[in-house]
Amino acid sequence: MQNQQRTTEQWRQLDAAHHLHPFTDTQSLNQQGARVMTRSEGIYLWDSEGNKIIDGMAGLWCVNIGYGRKELSDVAKSQMDELPFYNTFFKTTHPAVVELSHLLAQVTPAGYEHVFYTNSGSEAVDTMIRMVRHYWDVQGKKDKKTLIGRWNGYHGSTIGGSSLGGMKYMHEQGDLPIPGMAHVEQPWWYKYGKDLSPDEFGVVAARWVEEKILEIGPEKVAAFVGEPIQGAGGVIIPPATYWPEVERICRKYDVLLVADEVICGFGRTGEWFGFEHFGFRPDIFTTAKGLSSGYLPIGAVFVGERVAQGLIAGGDFNHGFTYSGHPVASAVARVNIELLRDEGIIDRVKNETGPYMQKRWRETFSQFEHVDDVRGVGLIQAFTLVKDKSKRELFPEFGDVGLMCRDIFFSNNLIMRACGDHIVSAPPLVISKAEIDEMLGVAARCMETFERKLKDSGLV
Ligand code: PMP
Repeated sequence: MQNQQRTTEQWRQLDAAHHLHPFTDTQSLNQQGARVMTRSEGIYLWDSEGNKIIDGMAGLWCVNIGYGRKELSDVAKSQMDELPFYNTFFKTTHPAVVELSHLLAQVTPAGYEHVFYTNSGSEAVDTMIRMVRHYWDVQGKKDKKTLIGRWNGYHGSTIGGSSLGGMKYMHEQGDLPIPGMAHVEQPWWYKYGKDLSPDEFGVVAARWVEEKILEIGPEKVAAFVGEPIQGAGGVIIPPATYWPEVERICRKYDVLLVADEVICGFGRTGEWFGFEHFGFRPDIFTTAKGLSSGYLPIGAVFVGERVAQGLIAGGDFNHGFTYSGHPVASAVARVNIELLRDEGIIDRVKNETGPYMQKRWRETFSQFEHVDDVRGVGLIQAFTLVKDKSKRELFPEFGDVGLMCRDIFFSNNLIMRACGDHIVSAPPLVISKAEIDEMLGVAARCMETFERKLKDSGLV
């Protein structure tokens, strides 16, 4: 019943022959061959050559609980034996989804009592887009259709999510964005802050949202959507003044405020949700990833009281997925959330491992000549590779040196990610202090190699 045992080379050849990877240049990957991951435990992965790898990215920012939790595989098996599938469309429900919804209403702040299930973050975002437009229709405000996102924001790969997201290289493929999407600049102080203090800049960046609302006309704007911390955009952490001001602006113009919590949700910042860290209250928030710690695909849209009551009053919401509230994914998510809560994992991120990581992260990387804006909160952190620290000058081809740096980490069995020239990390939330030391020890040696290579290749 196990996967067939083959040599690394055989796996690579079959992979190259048949498997199209996401966000990948297939030709170039197939020339190198993919790394074959075969096993995992805690914060570690093993590849098919037996190398032990530190996963500084928790998979794709999702394995919050860490790898190898038997409680999750056990509940998946018993749920599969009992009721592997039933839908929730036609006047039916099942215990797994009922229990999960009940538990989620307890771990979210008061006022988010309703949840709609999807299979992924992208589907959660698309669901939210349809939901906010439908909500305004039900209110009789049929012109309120436009959603405002941010450049460099990431909201998934579906047509709705990638249109709302602000990744220009995604818009270039497939005739995006679709109509009814607008974008404002990201609250990235290092690049755009100039002489302002971060707090002053936070207010300025929030006012870009106001300017866009006024440009479009508040009567046409349905929602503003943002990740509390932009993840794939390079862990852009807005100044503390940003979100409260955005919230004030959304309220002023009666625009719904949506937080995309797909990365920040379920403990990443040391709070259950990123909006709790920044002190604002979205009308809706989207989640996935940490909801099941990636063990099975599931996403959820949490709907605040105002929108929930509007939707409930509006009759049929003609939207849903075969696997909305899938029993096995729901059961796994429930046990995952119970473990995050009952083992105090999120509290530890807030009070112990998060602060330790942030202190050690800054100590480790600030000393390098071409590293600046060393930043992070909880267990999400980053730094930016820069040409000249004294002038806050980035490299001209944003992303090239980032990839070079990422590849050095990867060949030294440490996974961190390059988002442009931002090097980012988000390890499993169960990482210990000793493992943080181990991870940063490897990273520091890699950075020495990287800076030597930068000089040798004449890039600085
Ligand atoms: N929103 C955000 C903020 C994300 O980071 C991601 C995925 N990285 C998504 C949405 C899309 O999630 P998925 O890949 O599960 O569709």
